[in-house]
Amino acid sequence: MLLYVHVPFCRSKCAYCSFYSVPLPQGAAGEAMLKSYLAALLREMRRRAAQCGRVSVETVFFGGGTPSLLPGRAVAGILDEARRSFDVAADAEISLEANPESLLLSDLPREARKAGVNRLSIGVQSLDDAELAMLGRAHGSRAARTAVDVARATGFASVNLDVLWGLPGRGGRAPSQMRLLALLKDVADLQPDHISAYELTPEQGTPLAEALEKGELVRPGEKASASMYLAGAEYLESRGFLQYEVSNFARLGFACRHNLGYWQGKDYLGLGPSATSTLGNRRFTNPADLAGWIAATKRDAEPPCEHLDAVTRLEEMLMLRLRTTAGLSFAEWRRASGRSFPADFAAVIALLRREGLAGMRKGSFFLTRTGMLVSDAIIARFFADLRARVALSGRPDAARSPG
Ligand code: SF4
Repeated sequence: MLLYVHVPFCRSKCAYCSFYSVPLPQGAAGEAMLKSYLAALLREMRRRAAQCGRVSVETVFFGGGTPSLLPGRAVAGILDEARRSFDVAADAEISLEANPESLLLSDLPREARKAGVNRLSIGVQSLDDAELAMLGRAHGSRAARTAVDVARATGFASVNLDVLWGLPGRGGRAPSQMRLLALLKDVADLQPDHISAYELTPEQGTPLAEALEKGELVRPGEKASASMYLAGAEYLESRGFLQYEVSNFARLGFACRHNLGYWQGKDYLGLGPSATSTLGNRRFTNPADLAGWIAATKRDAEPPCEHLDAVTRLEEMLMLRLRTTAGLSFAEWRRASGRSFPADFAAVIALLRREGLAGMRKGSFFLTRTGMLVSDAIIARFFADLRARVALSGRPDAARSPG
């Protein structure tokens, strides 16, 4: 099982972000908020452990929000409780997301390392001060560079840097591909083990989305975006970062086991406000409300549970596996559905291969990099075919029946 701990605090809100997070006040008020959060998290962990039994945990991931706002002793306390509650593997990957500015101000790197965190994921986003200011980030490029030095000096076995691409340009000018390649060069020069490069998607209602609507900022067009993605991915591979998922690149042996676990459909338990869990066919999501979640942990209240039917599970398998360069294994599909993937989807597979959007190798089907650019449309087509087959058979579980 994968264990996810959601830390909902941020010092301030970035200009593009609509994730659930709450501002962490300085001083006594902040301390009190952290104390209630930690008590609730440990309560929730013990309750889940009592329900699940002493299951094996292969990865732990502190995500947020800004987990690096936690004091080092809090990270150690959470990991101690996880080891008491679950069978955390001796070689578990334990990741923590960090923002550069909070890493530099606390005892967290040393204490987290001592507590067993072995992978640090730093939210660099850009190494250009003007871009960082536009994004509303609390750090500048110097802090980002220093944070990488701190991570290395502290001895984390694996360091990831998150960067954003497709950033808007100012004054009616869209950003150029050259700019992106310059950023990727600077990031690769910092010699991380892993780079996550996500396209910026300003969420509705955020200051950045409003500036785009008013025309104060300009996003690259669809064609320019596509060519940036292809050129960026090619550049990262030329620097030794192999693409293993739509937005993720790693040196050999440094792929993120936790995220790969999601894409491979492993069970995951999410703790903390807004965290989602999927255990077998059951999925539940905690309230995206710190006070509401704390109160629920005191009452032992369960969030509503969704039961995933066979077709939904197959759709998710298809969607998640096609995010990865490894793709979808025909043997796994047959185990889950009782059917042959290449036979059932022969027409669409042939079309996608002719267009250079997909390929087949060693018993699996995968999207090419160009295919990943239009993966939403491709996946929608597979879903339509799958649903049509189920409708024709008149049975919701038809996808499971041997063909
Ligand atoms: S630090 Fe991350 S979670 Fe917090 S506001 Fe910025 S982007 Fe959102």
